[in-house]
Amino acid sequence: MQTSRIWSELDLQKEGKATGYLRVPISTNASAYGWIPVPIASIKNGSGPRVLLIAGSHGDEWEGQIMLIKLIQSLKVRDINGHLIILPAANAPAVQAGQRVSPLDDGNLNRSFPGDPNGTPTMMIAHFIEAVLLPGCDLVCDLHSGGSSLEYLPSAVIIAATSASQLRQSVDLLRVFGLPVGFATDASTGGDRSLTGACNRVGSVACLSTELGGGGTVSRNVLRAAEDGLARILHHVGVLNAAPKEPHFGSTQLLYRVRPNDFVYSSANGLFEPFVNLGDSVTDGQEAGRIHFTEEPWRKPVTVHFGVGGIVLCRRFPARAALGDCLFNVGKTWTPE
Ligand SMILES: [Zn+2]
Repeated sequence: MQTSRIWSELDLQKEGKATGYLRVPISTNASAYGWIPVPIASIKNGSGPRVLLIAGSHGDEWEGQIMLIKLIQSLKVRDINGHLIILPAANAPAVQAGQRVSPLDDGNLNRSFPGDPNGTPTMMIAHFIEAVLLPGCDLVCDLHSGGSSLEYLPSAVIIAATSASQLRQSVDLLRVFGLPVGFATDASTGGDRSLTGACNRVGSVACLSTELGGGGTVSRNVLRAAEDGLARILHHVGVLNAAPKEPHFGSTQLLYRVRPNDFVYSSANGLFEPFVNLGDSVTDGQEAGRIHFTEEPWRKPVTVHFGVGGIVLCRRFPARAALGDCLFNVGKTWTPE
């Protein structure tokens, strides 16, 4: 494994709480010997589980970023048993720009694993996470949401694991997180290039993700539910000592998200008129919406259909849609046992 070029003033082996930066080297017209700051916090208290919390893998997904900024400020060393590492703005240039991908290299961090220590800034960050931060972790929580272009039914997400015992543990995490919906997928939409792909390569790292709303904004209720859920998860795996403020959680509906081939995509460029809402139950072949033509308003709109039915998990947020844009995806009721 090649050595990362990223360095830090933080010693991740050291006991106690420390905050600072991963320094991603960059040499540009504006900054010949510079580095890009990726904020990191390490809170270590004796032996115990090692947990990595990540947000800002996509810069326009705000909920997780706010959650982790708040945790960095509120958690004290005595609150922790083991080691908590927090990256609240993993693809920091994308976070700073408020964009899904980095403005420096168009890098989508969750499509960049295993990364490259000699690659672009996004590739270097991916490599550091997979090669340096993930090994030895018991759990990684990767906080995503719909971002600017999608809105999700707020959900915790797992990848359907290969072994029965792994699957049981993952389903427990969905239930402990306690959002009304938890869903499993065959694989991340990023496949092997996603953080879940990295977890599979490293091995024995449980991976819990989320899709917390989106639409380019933050919902107070969703944020609060996700903060309570994350506290329950951290207590459940033993890295957070205190029992969470909201120890009770409701029942979680378990769904299995259909494969990307079965998502509903726009078949034309135009204005997207949805026919259903998030959380609605839809049937195979049901009409999903229409695409209207602003430049040919006399032209008959195109109707798009759900290929397979289920519960509507996600919808495109902006009305302007182009051929190939994802308009909806659905989850089918799932009984894992
Ligand atoms: Zn994301």
